[in-house]
Amino acid sequence: MTDFLKLQDIGMSYHTMDGEIPALSHISFSLNKGEFVSLVGPSGCGKSTILNLIAGLLKPEKGTITIQNTPLEQSQVTIGYMLQKDHLFEWRTIYENVILGLEIQKKITKDRLDRVEQLLTDYGLAAFKQAHPSQLSGGMRQRAALIRTLALEPSLLLLDEPFSALDYQTRLHVSDDIGKIIKKEKQTALLVTHDISEAISMSDRIIVLSNSPATVRCEIPVILDIEDKTPMNARNAPDFKNYFNRIWKELNPHE
Ligand code: ADP
Ligand code: MG
Repeated sequence: MTDFLKLQDIGMSYHTMDGEIPALSHISFSLNKGEFVSLVGPSGCGKSTILNLIAGLLKPEKGTITIQNTPLEQSQVTIGYMLQKDHLFEWRTIYENVILGLEIQKKITKDRLDRVEQLLTDYGLAAFKQAHPSQLSGGMRQRAALIRTLALEPSLLLLDEPFSALDYQTRLHVSDDIGKIIKKEKQTALLVTHDISEAISMSDRIIVLSNSPATVRCEIPVILDIEDKTPMNARNAPDFKNYFNRIWKELNPHE
């Protein structure tokens, strides 16, 4: 299988008034088409920096990023980015919010609007099209934010701690929800999280990062012996705690 996204030997520092802050060192990993991969690492280790590089918002100082063997800066693929805050606009209805990306990028076509309708119906927001964001629960808002991102038909979805603003209960439900949607839409996705359980429950593979400057400590394919592997069910898999303990040890090597 050829790699869809490939990072090779990425190095990156921030240059500030107080000097150089090394953020990433020799980062290499790849993603296959349709795969759901998580990046797990301590706070401040460089996870968001990696996503910003892939989104093209930052340029690496060292190394290369390619998508389908094309250097990132020449690649035509659409990349979707979902952040911790849902960035829904209160003065727009949910419908006006979910088509915002299409509007800004001048990509509104009948087919795309039909797809938005379908996504809203499939994922339980059809009745809320004319509602405003404050009328929705945190979970529904995150679903609306995901639909807005999926409306652009991204080939790659980047998720930067998208559930961390939610309380624990809601977080479990929303990550289950969002995980199912991403799988159903066969979306290639890279999730950043510092929550080990969230990573295990949602991913096909986990990349564990070290403290700052981030290096790749190890890659762990997640294979859970469970029938209907939704993020919620995955937490009940017999092997779940073994994965947890292994990743915990990788993150805390001196304990
Ligand atoms: P994470 O997402 O894993 O919490 P980040 O990628 O945001 O980590 O940050 C990695 C390191 O780079 C941290 O030490 C952070 O303080 C530093 N950093 C991030 N952005 C900037 C910036 N714009 N200028 C200077 N330092 C930064
Ligand atoms: Mg971050």
